[in-house]
Amino acid sequence: MHETSIARNVICIVEEAAQKNDLACVSKVILEIGPFSGVEIGALEFAFSALKHGTILQDATIEYLTPPLTLFCKECENEYLGDFDDLRCPACMGTHFEVIHGRELIVKSIIGASNDQ
Ligand SMILES: [Zn+2]
Repeated sequence: MHETSIARNVICIVEEAAQKNDLACVSKVILEIGPFSGVEIGALEFAFSALKHGTILQDATIEYLTPPLTLFCKECENEYLGDFDDLRCPACMGTHFEVIHGRELIVKSIIGASNDQ
């Protein structure tokens, strides 16, 4: 399953970051998941609950943020915020667009406690 490998990847990124920053535990991880990333948050949550035991994420809360969908109209070169139900350009009603933001999957922040606290 797609989401399982994403969850594994995120755990890896967080463990590496925790090590670099000397974090003894992680309490919260904020992920930014674009509406066009193809990631199903429910499936990702499920993958985390299955995989996080024994990792630094064991007791962490995972928060999911959905960034706005930003599109670029190829017809009139307008940049606009896409509405998921109507992706047409509001300026020219064109349907040829590029996704500028919306496909990303980013570990936005990691909140934890360091060893000496
Ligand atoms: Zn347009």
